Amino acid sequence: MNIHEYQARELFAEFGVATQPGSVAHTPDEAKIVASNLGGNLVIKAQIHAGGRGKGTFKNGFKGGVHLCKTPSEAREIAAQMIGNILVTHQTGPEGKEVAKIFVGEAVEIQRELYFAILIDRVTSSPVVIASTEGGVDIESVAAKNPEKILRLKVNPFLGLMPYQTRVIAASLGLTGPLMNQASKLFANLYRLFIERDCSMVEVNPLVVTKEGKLLALDAKFNFDDNALYRQPSIVAMRDISEEDPREVEASKFGLNYIGLDGNIACLVNGAGLAMATMDIIQHAGGMPANFLDVGGGATREQVAAAFRIILADKTVKGIFVNIFGGIMDCDVIANGIVEAARETGISIPLVVRLEGNNVEAGKKTLAESGLKLESGENILDAAHKIVAAVKAAG
Ligand code: GDP
Ligand code: MN
Repeated sequence: MNIHEYQARELFAEFGVATQPGSVAHTPDEAKIVASNLGGNLVIKAQIHAGGRGKGTFKNGFKGGVHLCKTPSEAREIAAQMIGNILVTHQTGPEGKEVAKIFVGEAVEIQRELYFAILIDRVTSSPVVIASTEGGVDIESVAAKNPEKILRLKVNPFLGLMPYQTRVIAASLGLTGPLMNQASKLFANLYRLFIERDCSMVEVNPLVVTKEGKLLALDAKFNFDDNALYRQPSIVAMRDISEEDPREVEASKFGLNYIGLDGNIACLVNGAGLAMATMDIIQHAGGMPANFLDVGGGATREQVAAAFRIILADKTVKGIFVNIFGGIMDCDVIANGIVEAARETGISIPLVVRLEGNNVEAGKKTLAESGLKLESGENILDAAHKIVAAVKAAG
């Protein structure tokens, strides 16, 4: 799960991570009021679940999702250009994201832009800190051009981020004297936030040194571990469903693991490993998967039907590949789910089913007697070739 920058700032305030004052606004008038309460120079920032806003462009031609200005009236005008319009950045894809809110903050005079992130490293199974003197640009491009400018520091999960480590990081960023003290405190507090709120990533880009010699987090991106959300009600309350793929929101209601992709062959599979293999074999057969969909090892008929409805509601889907291995689950349950959803919604696109495992004969019989138009695959490769061919023939 992700949150907006203004929500990240609320977490910063709670955990004592220094940032500039400001707050969220939903209308241009509200932006003007927030700006008047702040006074001084202002920064206006579009709130979407994607980065690269500074260099983005709105579909109405307005340039930049991050703007500096001097007066509340200017803040109002900039807000009017942003709110209700679609911002395209290198992270949103060409379709962009509609801006529903903005952040209005006190502008900061920047002396240096740094990069600081904490994430979970799967290789060492521990948190790792990534820091760089090259802030304000994508860390990927720093990694490609100047890998020596990136510090990676492993954190022992039992000991946590030790005070000496915060000073090592500060020193590597050239933060000395009073800035080192500010940095140690900021890093320690951010680490505490990362652990206590079950984050899988927090990225501060840029972390800035201001002209007055203060260290502030100026932007923040958070990812939270979905498996820990049950014990993070305050984080769940920050969820903004309008920022998420509606297909994924619907799938999460039924406990399905669903991720939308760019291709046109939908997959309905039980088990994450089989789902990955199915996507691979579709590509091997010359097609492109429209989604990752794992109904889980013990899916019910209702879940299978919901999965089918989500797939059928997607207009980019031109064919469906059902690949089920009945290990824990009964093939006939799957077959009944397919038939129920197909009757309800009606299928006009090619459907290829490969069933194997528990009670497979009953499952095949249910499908055969349903009157549904479908092809059966002998095995996973045969089924993949059949669905790719059927979609090509139909298209
Ligand atoms: P992003 O483009 O989505 O990552 O948005 P950021 O919040 O990181 O802003 C992009 C850039 O705008 C930063 O790297 C800064 O250079 C600049 N910026 C953001 N806030 C301020 C501010 O308060 N003052 C100044 N001078 N520049 C800012
Ligand atoms: Mn940024």
